[in-house]
Amino acid sequence: PYEVLVVGGGPAGAAAAIYAARKGIRTGVAAERFGGQVLDTMAIENFISVSHTEGPKLAAALEQHVKDYEVDVMNLQTATALVPPAREGGLIEVKLANGASLKGRTVILSTGARWRTMNVPGEAEYRNKGVAYCPHCDGPLFKGKRVAVIGGGNSGVEAAIDLAGLVAHVTLIEFDSQLRADAVLQRKLHSLPNVDVITSAQTTEVHGDGSKVVGLSYKDRNSGELKRIDLEGIFVQIGLVPNTEWLKGAIALTPRGEIEVDARGQTSIPGVFAAGDATTVPFKQIVIAMGEGAKAALSAFDHLIRTVPV
Ligand code: FAD
Repeated sequence: PYEVLVVGGGPAGAAAAIYAARKGIRTGVAAERFGGQVLDTMAIENFISVSHTEGPKLAAALEQHVKDYEVDVMNLQTATALVPPAREGGLIEVKLANGASLKGRTVILSTGARWRTMNVPGEAEYRNKGVAYCPHCDGPLFKGKRVAVIGGGNSGVEAAIDLAGLVAHVTLIEFDSQLRADAVLQRKLHSLPNVDVITSAQTTEVHGDGSKVVGLSYKDRNSGELKRIDLEGIFVQIGLVPNTEWLKGAIALTPRGEIEVDARGQTSIPGVFAAGDATTVPFKQIVIAMGEGAKAALSAFDHLIRTVPV
């Protein structure tokens, strides 16, 4: 068994693995996709002490740093269940989708989060046929075309700014009466000639011609009127959902699905810690996820030296 078994290979999981391995204890990381959300990110300018980097570059550096240590990196492995120890000090089991299972004296959960979907007619049908969630991955596919970005938070406004440089025209659609993004992003957005912003608008349907997106409909929330925009692409940027479905019933989660942790990263199960976007820790950012991952690993080490194995 591992002394520390990390589930999730984003910034939180990578930091946890490095901190654990540096204690000289047997450490493993199982991740569906090593690098996590960082792989889908382009410019990163708030990773402290690094003025500017890019997601794939940072993800590669994360993996390299982990591999500097004796850590078992098990990439492309999806955890499907967490089995708490039969009694305190016992092994914790993590079941994998491939039928295997891994065991740890402690476990650190760092499975991150993913983008929320709109759940309107046409969205699922036209996913990857015009409906996209990752502007950095799919933006170039819409070169010279018209797109909408759904959501006026930081990610939506960032996406609109990004896409405006690639596509012919961007319509940003926000449900609320005003955008929620940082003022500096909003200023940038409003300075761009090929972006329209529509507020108080609820997207109601994605229209397609059977093979690709041709438009969307939204309800003007002030007048109640239904309006239609012709376009080729829709980028959905309306929030994050924690990747914790597999933990339901096994561990305490909030109604939103976030893993409840205390200031040390301890969850409701002794020996199980958690870190990053999957948890209740506020503000989902790389630097925060890394700090939380480091903290969870130190807490796990602290737990190990105080617990008699059974
Ligand atoms: P994640 O990065 O989500 O990693 C989760 C890991 O868990 C992945 O390896 C995933 O494959 C794995 N996993 C999930 N479920 C399972 C499972 N069941 N079994 C096994 N493994 C699983 N933050 C910034 O600080 N600055 C930015 O500029 C910035 N820009 C961003 C831009 C985009 C487009 C996105 C998507 C995010 C951005 N963020 C940014 C946020 C930042 O990427 C996240 O806060 C950070 O990656 C969270 O790290 P994490 O380790 O908690 O989770």
